[in-house]
Amino acid sequence: MAYDFDLYVIGAGSGGVRSARFAAGFGAKVAVAESRYLGGTCVNVGCVPKKLLVYGAHFAEDFEQSAGFGWTLGEADFDWATLIANKDREINRLNGIYRNLLVNSGVTLHEGHARLIDPHQVEVNGQRYTARHILIATGGWPQIPDIPGREHAISSNEAFFLKELPKRILVVGGGYIAVEFAGIFHGLGADTKLLYRGELFLRGFDGAVRKHLQEELTKRGLDLQFNADIERIEKQADGSLKVTLKDGRELATDCVFYATGRRPMLDNLGLENTGVKLDKRGFIEVDEQYQSAEPSILAIGDVIGRVQLTPVALAEGMAVARRLFKPEQYRPVDYNMIPTAVFSLPNIGTVGLTEEQAREAGHKVQIFESRFRPMKLTLTECQERTLMKLVVDAETDKVLGCHMVGPDAGEIVQGLAIALKAGATKRDFDETIGVHPTAAEEFVTMRTPVTG
Ligand code: FAD
Ligand code: NDP
Repeated sequence: MAYDFDLYVIGAGSGGVRSARFAAGFGAKVAVAESRYLGGTCVNVGCVPKKLLVYGAHFAEDFEQSAGFGWTLGEADFDWATLIANKDREINRLNGIYRNLLVNSGVTLHEGHARLIDPHQVEVNGQRYTARHILIATGGWPQIPDIPGREHAISSNEAFFLKELPKRILVVGGGYIAVEFAGIFHGLGADTKLLYRGELFLRGFDGAVRKHLQEELTKRGLDLQFNADIERIEKQADGSLKVTLKDGRELATDCVFYATGRRPMLDNLGLENTGVKLDKRGFIEVDEQYQSAEPSILAIGDVIGRVQLTPVALAEGMAVARRLFKPEQYRPVDYNMIPTAVFSLPNIGTVGLTEEQAREAGHKVQIFESRFRPMKLTLTECQERTLMKLVVDAETDKVLGCHMVGPDAGEIVQGLAIALKAGATKRDFDETIGVHPTAAEEFVTMRTPVTG
């Protein structure tokens, strides 16, 4: 049968765009449907605008610390509306770049909601298109628990477009988004509380990293409330919100921001017209080559719920394009040693196994740790400390994990990730000459294990 397209991609986000562009580059006839915004979550309501807001929040401490270097500044004043307008302008520019990337690589763009009609057919804006392969790359959506007053809460989707900076804000959750946004709002001057239901936030990160960040955020005056969960939210006559916690405490705030995970975006997708199956958590179930239970339908990125990070969606998109249209270049995505950063203030950067994971996997480990006050702060009042940690296999000498809390941790860990991926040993680290004077050189000068 002749199809309209070789590949029909649903969703022009990180994974979808990558897959579509490369498939077209390999000679396939490709279309992409996008219902909301070109570039998807990362470009519009994720990584990019988030990082711009983090940069914005960082100035507060730069201004403060500049006094130690002899600077006298006038009174600092911050205007949220300017930051948001400038951020919006930049995102608009990026939307245009994504459009050009698609069009210039020969991909047909359908702007509208796509719905599956059958395993080879998609409907967009009332038109039906057939395709040999269909790729679902529809991403995720914020998930807010069903508590009374949930309609008064916002998610990251709205946080990027608030008309004004709330005077008081409660951020709920203990994952990436909660920690990053608590830092943003606190840095920009809002009275910020972070509420997390467990003992300590950032479950899954190295224990020393979690504890260190807790201490640093507390030093900065961020109000961290652990073992705290909201029972209900009520709007008051003056527009403020009364929040009642499960332990009976009441808190007054102007904004409640839930960052409690993301569900797969499957709304009105027409999966029921196909044999696609979901896994236990409700994400699309795929095999190791991203094929769903319906042979003509594949899925990648956040909608399969493996690792919800842009570079992972990009790698999966690339793998699908190669597998379908350039099989001789196909290589499976390697999910080991994925580096990641939490853009909290200060940053976390991490790659490889945490100490807990290494021990659980049966490794006999040696731990190297360094805690120090960064040189930049020595002329300032700021008492922030940086943490660097290496998890080493005592038998093979292989470095299993690198973890850092401190300025530019994300930037530093990207380079270390290459070393770990290449199988670097602690001896390789020791024999590497440092770049002086940097914080990063500490990773190659730690000599004495703290435990082993
Ligand atoms: P998406 O980028 O979400 O793209 C899916 C697209 O599909 C969307 O544009 C959507 O509109 C479209 N769509 C959905 N349904 C349909 C339909 N039926 N028809 C047509 N179109 C449809 N990751 C990092 O690596 N680093 C970060 O710093 C980072 N920060 C983040 C900050 C926030 C606040 C959030 C929410 C996420 C962040 N992420 C970050 C995660 C990252 O954004 C995602 O992992 C990534 O965007 C997933 O890409 P994707 O292609 O799977 O989906
Ligand atoms: P995460 O899965 O990272 O964290 C969710 C948090 O919400 C956890 O602390 C979880 O607690 C808590 N939680 C879940 N359900 C509830 C509930 N019903 N009530 C109270 N608390 C709850 O999700 P995020 O929303 O922060 O981010 C989604 C994903 O986006 C991330 O996992 C990450 O992959 C990606 N992302 C990446 C970024 C980066 O690379 N810098 C930045 C932002 C997002 P518990 O631990 O107890 O389960």
